[in-house]
Amino acid sequence: MIHENSRLAFARAKQLMPGGVNSPARAFGGVGGEPIFFDRAEGAYLFDIDGNRYIDLIGSWGPMILGHCHPAVVEAVERALRRGASFGAPTLAENELAELIVEAVPSIEKVRLVNSGTEATASAIRLARGYTGRSMIIKFAGNYHGHVDSLLVAAGSSAATLGVPDSPGVTQGSAADTLVLRYNDPCAVAEAFDKHGPRIAAAIVEPVAGNMGCVVGSAEFLTALRDETSRHGALLIFDEVMSGFRVAYGGAQSLLGILNKGATAGLSSSVSSEITTGTAGQASSGTRGITPDLTTLGKIIGGGLPVGAYGSRAEIMDHVLPLGKVFQAGTLSGNPLATAAGIATLKVLRDDDPYPPLELLSARLQRGLEAAAKQAGVSVQIGRCGSMLTPFFSDRPVTDWDTASGCDTRRYARYFWGLIRRGVYPPCSQYEALFVSTAHTEADIDAVIAAAGEALAEIAV
Ligand SMILES: *Cc1c(COP(=O)(O)O)cnc(C)c1O
Repeated sequence: MIHENSRLAFARAKQLMPGGVNSPARAFGGVGGEPIFFDRAEGAYLFDIDGNRYIDLIGSWGPMILGHCHPAVVEAVERALRRGASFGAPTLAENELAELIVEAVPSIEKVRLVNSGTEATASAIRLARGYTGRSMIIKFAGNYHGHVDSLLVAAGSSAATLGVPDSPGVTQGSAADTLVLRYNDPCAVAEAFDKHGPRIAAAIVEPVAGNMGCVVGSAEFLTALRDETSRHGALLIFDEVMSGFRVAYGGAQSLLGILNKGATAGLSSSVSSEITTGTAGQASSGTRGITPDLTTLGKIIGGGLPVGAYGSRAEIMDHVLPLGKVFQAGTLSGNPLATAAGIATLKVLRDDDPYPPLELLSARLQRGLEAAAKQAGVSVQIGRCGSMLTPFFSDRPVTDWDTASGCDTRRYARYFWGLIRRGVYPPCSQYEALFVSTAHTEADIDAVIAAAGEALAEIAV
């Protein structure tokens, strides 16, 4: 496979942009080699500027759950563009997208639209602090919430450590109020609240983590978070920028609602069966199991255009300007093109309920990858929730950042390039989830499994 045009384009890009990219993961730092430049996409496929075709497994890192260029989305955006790209004044489309979100997500009565997931989490944190009058934030090692200063702290230590910034330019001050705990560790949550309870404004968590690879939050862990935050007057924030409308129409919280009605198991296996029976999408009404106070969204709700959102009970959201005093604004927030793409995407998801077939396809991929790895004699652990999946190159289960960071990333890199050579485009890092879309067919999934089988056999030796 020839990548000559990509090679030339990257050489030029490096003179124009830091590292040649506008977002660092795209530079292939996790797998080595040089990034591939894309020309266009269609359904489940990406086409690079050298004319190579790939089965797309990253879906723009999550948004493209309907695949690329879904006709309903293309038509909606074209129609919106002809009516004006941006007004800086209210539109009916904003009502419509807000209504779809409020109806779908159990914790949201009112929502504010922003332009990215990062903006959503930054705003949610500010609101939590403004609402509670407290400063401390709890986050979990290996969870990513965008490049918000106070959340760019991962520490990765199993003990509760007060935050040390991950990036130059993030001051000690902005990270000092962030407490980093181990993911899936209910005891760490209880200890932190015992010690710092009255100072904690909020705990923010990915209920299904996608940014250390796909790691499912256990019901026990999420229940502890719900209980401790409630007991100490802190807010629980679910960052569902990735999991929202991905693992179920109403996000992970709609699945947790079902679970809480009687099941005690973790999200993973029981959720799969709920999705398979097609009940997950209707879970929101009446089931308020592990419901967060605040929820952040992004990715899918923009259908591939830049969008984010944060929402909560009306009583909390009414603290945001202009009703309340917590400042948050945006020139392009609620943008007509982005809302059009989001509305079109959510309506297809709501009306077609593609979650049961997505579950079947993703389970097929999991089984195929597990069998291929076994055949090749390579230790791989699959983390999966619905159509989010990560093959961890590890011989022990991955449940938190400690176990995730023990993966054989060099082996993952060789697997990655083995797939690229065979026309499959997986995430360019061990620590990013892959996504199955409604545009993938069984034949596409079987082609991925076949390519993975060959790539795994290559790296076994
Ligand atoms: C992608 C992501 C973000 C950041 O969203 P951007 O649109 O990239 O700013 C925040 N939280 C989670 C869980 C994400 O997956």
